[in-house]
Amino acid sequence: MSVQPKAGRPFGVYIHFPFCARKCPYCDFNTRAAREIPHDAYLDAVLAELRGRRARFEGRRLVSIYFGGGTPGLWRADCVGAVIDAVRGEWEPLNDPADVGLSAVEVTVEVNPRAAPIEHLAALRDVGVNRLSVGVQTFDPTYLRRLGRDHSVGQSVATLEAARAVGFERVSFDLLFGGPHHDPQAFERDLERASALSEADHISAYSLIVEPGTPFARMKASGRLHETDEEEVTDMLLRCEERLQEAGYAHYEVSNYARPGRWARHNSLYWVGAEYMGLGVGAHELALLPGGVPARRAGALTLAEYLNAPAASAYDEERLTAEVHLAERLFLGLRTRFGVRRAELEGQFGVERVKEASQRLERLCERGLIEEVEGPPAADLPAYLQVGGPGWVPTRRGLHFANQIALEVL
Ligand code: SF4
Repeated sequence: MSVQPKAGRPFGVYIHFPFCARKCPYCDFNTRAAREIPHDAYLDAVLAELRGRRARFEGRRLVSIYFGGGTPGLWRADCVGAVIDAVRGEWEPLNDPADVGLSAVEVTVEVNPRAAPIEHLAALRDVGVNRLSVGVQTFDPTYLRRLGRDHSVGQSVATLEAARAVGFERVSFDLLFGGPHHDPQAFERDLERASALSEADHISAYSLIVEPGTPFARMKASGRLHETDEEEVTDMLLRCEERLQEAGYAHYEVSNYARPGRWARHNSLYWVGAEYMGLGVGAHELALLPGGVPARRAGALTLAEYLNAPAASAYDEERLTAEVHLAERLFLGLRTRFGVRRAELEGQFGVERVKEASQRLERLCERGLIEEVEGPPAADLPAYLQVGGPGWVPTRRGLHFANQIALEVL
C-alpha cells in the first residue's frame, strides 16, 4: 500500500551508488572499483529497500533526491529514472515559492568526467535529473595526475560544456586544493578558470585531507607524499573565497559557493538539521521518530548481503540525546551563512538547554568566530529556512576556522 502524502516536514532522499571505475588514492568513501556493475540487481535492491522502509518518512514533503557515491553517473540512465519515479511516487514536492524558476524537487547526480558522454547526460536529463555535480578537482594537468584521478582536464571541460548544452538547470563542480605538491600559482589559475566559467552556478572547494587507510596515507607514512605547506593551504582557502566572491559566488558554507539563490538544496537539508532517508548499501540517514527522537542510521550490510535482502535489519542506529542533537545542530548550522535561530532551537530543544548552549555561543562571539544577528539570514532562502528572528551566524573568520567552532560546541 502506498504511503499517503500529506503536508509535512521537508526532507530529502539520498541514494548511495557504491561503484567507481577506479579508486582514487585519497578516497575513503564507501565505494569499490568495479569492472562490471550490477545495474539491474542494484536497482531492484534500492527499490525493495524503498518499499520496505518508506513508512518511516510518511507525510514528509520532498525537497531533493541526491545520487552520490561512488560514481552514480556510471549507473544506466533508465535505472536512475526508475528510482526517481519511485521516490516521486511516494512523496509530494514541497513547492517552495522562493525557488522561482527552478524545479520543485532538486535531483542531483554526481558524475566523473571520464564517463559522462553527452548522450548519457541527455539521457539523465530525460529521466528527470536537473542538477549535475561534476568531479573536476583541478584544471591543472600536472596536479590532476598527482591526485591520481583517472580523467583529463579536457574531459572535465567537455563535461561542463555538455551539461549546459543538454539543458541541466543547475551545474556544480568540485575543486580539491592542498593535495600533494600543489603549486599556489596553479591554484590561482584554477580559480581564474573557475571564475570565468559560465557553465556552473555552484562550486564546492575542499582542501585535501589524508584519510587513514588510503594509499595517500601509506605514502605519507613512508615519506613518499609531498604534502603542501599548511600556511600555503590556508592562503589558498583565503584566495579561493576572494576570487569566487569577486566572480559573483556567495561563500554560504565552509566549502561551498553559489551564485544567487543556487545553493545546494540537498546538502542544506543536512546543515539545517532536516531529515533525509538513505537508500543503498551503507547509506546514512537521519529521521525524527515519533516523539521527536532523532535517529541516525547507517546501513551495515555488505554489498552481497544488500543485493540479497536490501531491507534487512542490519544497520547501526544511534538515537541521539537532546544534548547531542543540539550540539550537532549548532555545529552544522554554524557551518553555513544560514546560522541558527534562537526561537527555532528553543522550540525544538527547550529554553533551558538553549540557555546553557548560549554560554558556549557567547564565547565564540567573543573570539570573533560567530556573531549575533536579528533578522533572517538572506532574502533568497526558502520558507523552510526562513525561521527568522534573532540568532547566530558564523563570521568570515568562523567560516575559515569551523574546526574551532566544532571544538566549542561538540
Ligand atoms: S571517483 Fe570519487 S568516489 Fe570514486 S574513488 Fe574517486 S573520489 Fe572516491
